[in-house]
This record gives sequence, structure tokens and C-alpha cells, in this order.
Amino acid sequence: MIEFIENYRISGKIICQTGLHIGGSSDTLGIGGSDSPVILDRIQKVPIIPGSSLKGKMRSALELKYSGLWLDKSEGKVHTCKEPGCNLCTTFGRGATERVMAGPTRLIVRDAMPDAVTKEAWKDKDGISHGTEIKGENFLNRITSMATPRFIERVPAGSAFDFEMIFTIYSPEDQDRLKLVLEAMSILEDSYLGGSGSRGYGKIAFADIVIARKDPDSYREGRDWEPLTKAEGETTARGILASL
Ligand SMILES: [Zn+2]
Repeated sequence: MIEFIENYRISGKIICQTGLHIGGSSDTLGIGGSDSPVILDRIQKVPIIPGSSLKGKMRSALELKYSGLWLDKSEGKVHTCKEPGCNLCTTFGRGATERVMAGPTRLIVRDAMPDAVTKEAWKDKDGISHGTEIKGENFLNRITSMATPRFIERVPAGSAFDFEMIFTIYSPEDQDRLKLVLEAMSILEDSYLGGSGSRGYGKIAFADIVIARKDPDSYREGRDWEPLTKAEGETTARGILASL
């Protein structure tokens, strides 16, 4: 039975603990140039973290952790299945062609925008243009040992982005799927966001997390989000998960 029960809003900051290199991660492109652009918001001309890439990374973090459950069946491809009770697909979505009576995808991930402090800091820092810096790196050819210089465009370490996700409860089982989202966030902190993660880029932390709720009455009566967790309480993904 699919029936709207309530919405949860998970919001907070994504802190870039190392430089964040968003966009293509190909190591095979030609010499020079900046071939891995961070995605720029067209209106504000600042880098953003696309909700789709954040959501994709959270999903693949879970696929790898529960590889016996979700990775083996998928032959290395993104897992998608017709199992109505599949927690991963129900939470993160199925391919458009999969017709499953599981209701709408539970999780929406918005684009994360740099916060006001970060935008101010970018303005005053040398070598930063539109929130990114260019860093030269040498890539060694494993066979010839020839070094190829490449330039990586990255968001500097210390930058903070405001993130927001909406998780909708349609059935009692969805409460556990909300925990899956927090678990994905927690695993992602030990992985990376964007390209070149194996070279140290993209280490992030979710901070200042607050979960708030709205039920059908809140919408009908025009009430605001009602905090479920408090800013002065647990604000990390791990901490909230342990307290749920
Ligand atoms: Zn599935």
C-alpha cells in the first residue's frame, strides 16, 4: 500500500577536507589544458555539487559495502532490479524501464551550493577564479616512465556546500531505508566525491546535519519543518544513525 505518510528533510554542510575535483575523471586525455572541469552553476558562476553525482556516489558506496546483495548480480554495472522490496532500488531509484509496484523513489538529492562564507573566502584568495583553483600534476606513464603534465581544476580544501535531501516515507519499512541513507553518507565520508579520489581528492565530511519532518497536516496547515534532530545534539551521519 503506497500512501504518503511524511517527508524528512536531511540538510547540513558538505565540508571539502581535500580539494574537490568534480566532473570527468579520465586520465587519458591530451597534454595540458584543464580537462576536468568542476560543474559551474550557470547563473551564479560558482561550482556546485550536482545532486545526481552525490546520489550516485551514495548509491555506489552502498553497492560496494553490500556487494553480496547488490553488486554481484549486477556484473559491475549499477544495480537495478524488479524486486519491489529491494531497499537500494526503492530508496535510490530504478531504471525508467523497470515497472515495479514499489511507489516513487524515496530519496531526492538537491544540488549542493557553496555557502556564503565559502563564496566570500573564494573572492579573497589568490589563484581562485569562480571558486576553483588550477593545480598542475605529473602523470607517469607506467611503461615508459614519461611524465605528462596535466592540470586539474578543483574546488579548494576547506570549502563548504549546503546540501539538502528529501526522503519520503510511504510505508513503515521506509524508516529503515532512511537509516540506509545515513549509512551511505557515512561510507561516502571514507570514500571520495568527484574524480581522482585515489590521488587524495574529494575527501568530504557531512556536518551540521539536521533532520526535520512534515506530515500531511503540516502541509495542509502551512506549518514549517519540525526538527527531529537538534542542532545542539548529534549532527554527524554516524552520530544520528547511532541515535535513531
Ligand atoms: Zn534492487
